[in-house]
Amino acid sequence: MSKDNEGSKANKLFENSSLLSSPVPSSPSLPKRQLKRHRRPFTSKTNVPRHIKRRVQSFLYKLEAQNKMPKHITVALSGGKDSTTVAYFLAQLKDRFGYELSALFIQLGIPTFSSKSREVVEAIASKLDIPLHVVKPEKPLHKIVEEKAEEIRAGRFKICAACGVIKRYLMNKFCWEHFGKDGAIATGHNMDDELSFLFRNIFSQSGVTLPTKGPIAPGNEEEKLCTRLKPLFWVREAKIETFKDVLKKEGLPIVETECPFKEGNSQARIKAFIDDVEKLSRRHKLSNFPSSLLKYMVGLSPHISLDRSWRKQCKICGYPTSAEDSVCTYCKLMGRGKNGREAQNKVRQSKVG
Ligand SMILES: [Zn+2]
Repeated sequence: MSKDNEGSKANKLFENSSLLSSPVPSSPSLPKRQLKRHRRPFTSKTNVPRHIKRRVQSFLYKLEAQNKMPKHITVALSGGKDSTTVAYFLAQLKDRFGYELSALFIQLGIPTFSSKSREVVEAIASKLDIPLHVVKPEKPLHKIVEEKAEEIRAGRFKICAACGVIKRYLMNKFCWEHFGKDGAIATGHNMDDELSFLFRNIFSQSGVTLPTKGPIAPGNEEEKLCTRLKPLFWVREAKIETFKDVLKKEGLPIVETECPFKEGNSQARIKAFIDDVEKLSRRHKLSNFPSSLLKYMVGLSPHISLDRSWRKQCKICGYPTSAEDSVCTYCKLMGRGKNGREAQNKVRQSKVG
C-alpha cells in the first residue's frame, strides 16, 4: 500500500474523531485524590521550565550512560516552539555534557514563509551563540507544488509528505557529510507528535512500524545514517506551548505563522483524536492511556528485529532507499537522473555566522 493511500485512509478515520468528544458522564466513585493525580500534568504551569529541563537532562544522562554521547549535535531548527526549545536547552547544557552544538535550517522554498522563518532562525542562533548552517534543496518546494498541482488536487500527492522526505534527507545528508558517525541530529519531536505517528500507523495498518525506537535512533555507518535524537520525546506539547512565554521573555523569537501548505495535514485531527481518547481514559481511571501505549511500543522495539534486507543504496545519491528501481524518493522529487544531470546536482549550502 502506498504512503498516500495510507494517509487518506487514516484521514477518513480521524474525520469522525469528534464522535468521541461527546460528553462522558463523570465517575462519582473516583476518589478526589486520584482525580487530582490524573489532572496534574495539565494544570502545573510554574514548574514547566524545570520539568522540560529535567526531561532533556535525563535524556542526556541516558546517552552518556549508554556511551552514545555524540561529539557534535546538530539541532534541526525551524523557528517553531519545539525546535527552539530543544536548541535553548541543548545550548544551556552543552558544556556540562561536553558536546559541540550547531543549528541547521532547511530553506525549503515556500514563498514568504521560508524567508521569514530564516530571519527568525538567524536571530535565535545568534542569541544562543551557536553556528547556523542553511541548506536548500536544488528544487524549491513551490516548484514541486506547481509540477504536481494536478496530483495534489486529485489527492494522489501529499505535499506535507514530500516536505518530510526533503527535510529528513537533507538533515541526514548534512550531518553525515560534516560529522559522520561522531555526529547526531536533534529534532523537536514531542510526545504528542510521536503519539500521532503511532496512532496513524495503527489506523493505516502499518503494523511493522508500530514499535518505535524511542528518543534515540542509532545511526548506521553502512547505510550512511546519522544518529537521530529526540530530547523532547517524553514532553507533552501542552508544556512546550506554555514554555513559549519563557522563550519570548528570554528574547527568542518564534515563527508564529503557519506553513501555507499545511492545510489538509491529518496530524492536527489525529492529535485531537488522541486528546479525546485521553479524556475518556482518564474518566475511566485508565490514566494516560495513549502515553502508556507509547511506552509499551518503545519497550517492544529492542525485541523485534526488522528485516533490513530490502534496504538498498540509491543508484544516484548513494543514500538508503527501499524503491524497486533503486532511486530514492528525494532524487525522484528533485528530478535527478534525467538527461544524466545527476552528477551536477549538488545541494546548495551556506553557513551563517
Ligand atoms: Zn537518491
